[in-house]
Amino acid sequence: MTLDVSQALKQPGTAMPMDAEQAIAPVEIGGDTVTFEPARLAGSFMALEGGDIVVRGILTTRAHARCANCLSPAEADVEEEFDEVFHLGGDPDDPEIFAYTGQELELEQLAMSTAVLGLPIRFLCREGCSRVPAFDVADVVVSLAEDEERGQRPFAALKELLAKAESGTPE
Ligand SMILES: [Zn+2]
Repeated sequence: MTLDVSQALKQPGTAMPMDAEQAIAPVEIGGDTVTFEPARLAGSFMALEGGDIVVRGILTTRAHARCANCLSPAEADVEEEFDEVFHLGGDPDDPEIFAYTGQELELEQLAMSTAVLGLPIRFLCREGCSRVPAFDVADVVVSLAEDEERGQRPFAALKELLAKAESGTPE
C-alpha cells in the first residue's frame, strides 16, 4: 500500500503515526519458496527539511516455508524493526535506496526487505525436528547441493527481487 505523506511534508520534523498493512510477494531463498501473510507496519514517519522521509517502526508477519530437516510445512513469526529514509526524487533504478516522488511512499519494498531480514536462518516444523524421511533423502541431498551452489545468499536473491520489482512497477 501507499503511505500518504502530504501532511508530514507540511510539518517537517513532526512525527506522524503509521499503522499499515502490506502484502508481500513470495520470495525464493536458497531454492525454497517463502510466503508471507500480510505484514503490519506500525511506527511513525517524519519529513525532514528538503523532503526526505524517515520511516521507522516494527514489521510483524508470519512466514511459511518448508522445514529444513523434514520438508514438512513450517512457519515462523517475523518481528523486525525498520528505520529507513525515503529520498525525494531518488534514483528509481538504484535498488539500494528507497525513493519516492509526489506525496506517497510505496511500502512494498520496505516491507519485503524488512521481512526477509527477519527470517530465521532455518525453518523448522517444530523445535528439535531432526527427522529426514527416508523416501526423501535423495531430494534432500539434491536440494542441499543446490543450496551449496547458490551459496545461500539471501541478500543477492533479495537484491534481484528488488531490482525486478523496481523495473516492473508502473509509476
Ligand atoms: Zn521438520
